[in-house]
Amino acid sequence: RPEGLPEEVDVLIVGCGPAGLVLAAQLANFPDVTTMVIDRRDGPLEVGQADGVACRTVEMFEAFGLADQLIAEGYWVNEVSFWRPDPDDRSRITRTGRIQDVEDGLSEMPHVIVNQARMLAYLRGSMERSASRLRPHYGLHASELTVDPSGESEHPVTVTLQHLADFRETGRTSTVRARYVVGCDGARSGVRTAIGRELVGDLTNQTWGVMDVLAVTDFPDIRLKAAVSADQGSVLIIPREGGYLVRIYLELDAVRDRDMLENRSVTPEKLAAVANRILHPYTIEVKDVGWWSVYEIGQRLCDKFDDVPAAETPSRHPHVFIAGDACHTHSAKAGQGMNVSMADAWNLGWKLAAVLRGTAVPDLLHTYSAERQEVAAELIAFDREFSRMFSAAPKEGGDSGDDEDIDPERFQRYFAAQGRFTAGVATRYAPSMITASPEFQDLARGLPVGMRFHSAPVVRLADAKPVQLGHVARADGAWRLYVFADRSDPASPDSRARALCDFLVSEKSPIARHTPAGADPDSVIDVRAVFQQGHRDLPVDAMPAVLQPRKGRFGLVDYEKAFCPDPAAGDIFDLRGIDRDAGCVVVVRPDQYVAHVLPLDAHDELADFLAGILVDAR
Ligand code: FAD
Repeated sequence: RPEGLPEEVDVLIVGCGPAGLVLAAQLANFPDVTTMVIDRRDGPLEVGQADGVACRTVEMFEAFGLADQLIAEGYWVNEVSFWRPDPDDRSRITRTGRIQDVEDGLSEMPHVIVNQARMLAYLRGSMERSASRLRPHYGLHASELTVDPSGESEHPVTVTLQHLADFRETGRTSTVRARYVVGCDGARSGVRTAIGRELVGDLTNQTWGVMDVLAVTDFPDIRLKAAVSADQGSVLIIPREGGYLVRIYLELDAVRDRDMLENRSVTPEKLAAVANRILHPYTIEVKDVGWWSVYEIGQRLCDKFDDVPAAETPSRHPHVFIAGDACHTHSAKAGQGMNVSMADAWNLGWKLAAVLRGTAVPDLLHTYSAERQEVAAELIAFDREFSRMFSAAPKEGGDSGDDEDIDPERFQRYFAAQGRFTAGVATRYAPSMITASPEFQDLARGLPVGMRFHSAPVVRLADAKPVQLGHVARADGAWRLYVFADRSDPASPDSRARALCDFLVSEKSPIARHTPAGADPDSVIDVRAVFQQGHRDLPVDAMPAVLQPRKGRFGLVDYEKAFCPDPAAGDIFDLRGIDRDAGCVVVVRPDQYVAHVLPLDAHDELADFLAGILVDAR
C-alpha cells in the first residue's frame, strides 16, 4: 500500500476535474472530516478543456478566497459581437450587432475566461493552504464500488483502486472504505454505473472541434467573444487570458463542407481551413496551436444523483453521489459544463460536511439530488434551444419565423434574454427543508428565496471600509443571518433589529441550541446586521452583543459583523428592495442561497426553521 493512502475515510472523491476539486476544496476546510481525492490521470490537467467562468462561479470562488486571482488573470467577457452573411454578397460575413454580455447589476463579478487547468490549479492551491492540507492522489483508478446494505457499517462503501503508471495497470490494487463516495468522474462515470444509474437522452453526440491558437488575423473582433454564423458553418471565437491566445470552436456536424473533415480525420490545419472559409473575407493565420481537441458530447441526464432508489427516498440515506458530467452532459456552446459541475459540488460539499460533523441532520443529504437534478434538467432544456439557435443556418432574406430558419438577430435577442441563465444566477431551488416558501418575500423583494444571495455594497461600521456584503460568506459551512434593521436607532427599545439580536443571545437562541460547546459562536450561525443609519452615526460600542462575538483562544472581539449603507455605491435597502419600515432577517445557506426571509419579530419561526435542519448541540 503506497505511503499516505488511507484505508478508511469519511469521503472518497473519485475524479479531480472541476466538480471533484470544488468538493475537495470545500471539505478541506474541515480538518475533522477525512477526505481522499483520487484521479486516474498521472498528474494535474495541464491545459485545455472548458474555459468559460460564469459570474456565479466567480462569486463562489470568492468564498474560497480565489476570486481576486481569477479576475486578475482572466479575460473579461464584457461584450459579444454577432456576424452573419452580408445580404449583398453571402460569401462575405458582416457584423450584425454587438451587445453587452452581462446585464448591469446582475453580479458584482465579471464573466471571465480562464483555462480549466488554471481553475483546477487554484482549487488545489486552496486545498493545500487549508487546515487539512489536502492533496490529490493521482494514478489511482476506482474500478469497483460496493455498498453494504445492512446499514450497520460506519464505512459502508468499499472502493477498489487500481494503481496505474502512465495510465497503464500495474496489477497492484488497494481498497478504501468510506462513509460517502462522490463520483466526480466525468461523462463515462464508473461510479454512476456502479450505483445503477445511467445518462439518458440524445442518442447521437454533437462533435466539436476546439483549438487554442496564437494567430495573426484581420478579423476585427478577435479580442471580443464573437458568434459567427455563415453559409459555411458557425464558429465561436473566445479570446483568452493573456492578450494573444484565442479559442476557436467549430461545430463539426454543422460544417457544410464535408470533404474538409472526411472520416473524422480532423487536424488543427483542417480546423483552421474551415475557420477561414467561415470568416471570409477575413483571414486567420494560425501560428501556433496550444491545445486542440475533437470533443463529442450529447445532451444527457441521470434521473437521480445518488444511490437511493426513488421508492426508498427519504427513508434510506444516500452514501454514494455523482456530480458534474457524471450526471449531466450538454454542448459547450453556452459554456456551462465546468460551471454547473462546480455548482453541483458546491451544493453537496457543505451538506456532507455538516452531516459528518454532526451539525445537521442526515435528511439534508436528500436535498442534493432533488435540487441539482432539477437544475441540470433546466440546463439541458436551455442548451437544446441555445444550440439549435446557434447552429441553424442563416437564411437568405432573414428570419421567416420558421423554426429551421433562425436569423442571427433573433439568436442575438435570445442570447441577451438568456444572460441571467448563462451567468449562473437564474437558479432557484424549490421549497424544501432548507428552502422556505416565500411567504414574506415582500420584505426583501431583491433577495428571492431559493436564489443566490445577491451581494450589494455596504460600509463596515467599525472601520468604515466599503465592502460587498455577500463577501462575508466564506466556504466555512456556516449559515448566515443577515439582519436588515428597521428604521429605529438600534440602541432604542423600539428597535426590532435590537430585539432580534437580543433574542439571538438568549437561552432560546438557535445559536445557543446548535453551536457545539467550545466552538466559536458564529461557526454554525453567523449573524450580520445592516443598519439604515450612516456609518458615522452609530457608535460601535453600542452594538448588540451578538454583533460583537468573542472568539478564539484569546476571546478577541470580532468587529466585522455590522454594516451601514454605502451611499456612494448605492443604498443596499433600495438595491435589494428591503422594506425600510419593517426590516427583515434573511437566512442564507452555507452555499449562499437564500433559505428564508422573515419579519424581524418572527423569533420562533426563525428558531423552528433552523431546528428542522441543524442538530441540537446542547
Ligand atoms: P471531468 O472534468 O471530466 O473530470 C473527471 C475526472 O475524473 C477526470 O480527471 C478523470 O481522469 C477522472 N476519472 C474518471 N474516471 C475515473 C476513475 N474510475 N477513477 C479515477 N479517476 C477517474 N467544456 C466546455 O465548456 N468547453 C470545452 O471546450 C470543453 N472541452 C472539453 C474537451 C475535452 C477533451 C473534455 C473531456 C471535456 C471538455 N469540456 C468542455 C467539458 C468540461 O471540461 C466538463 O464539462 C467539465 O470538466 C466537467 O467537470 P467534471 O469534474 O464533472 O468532470
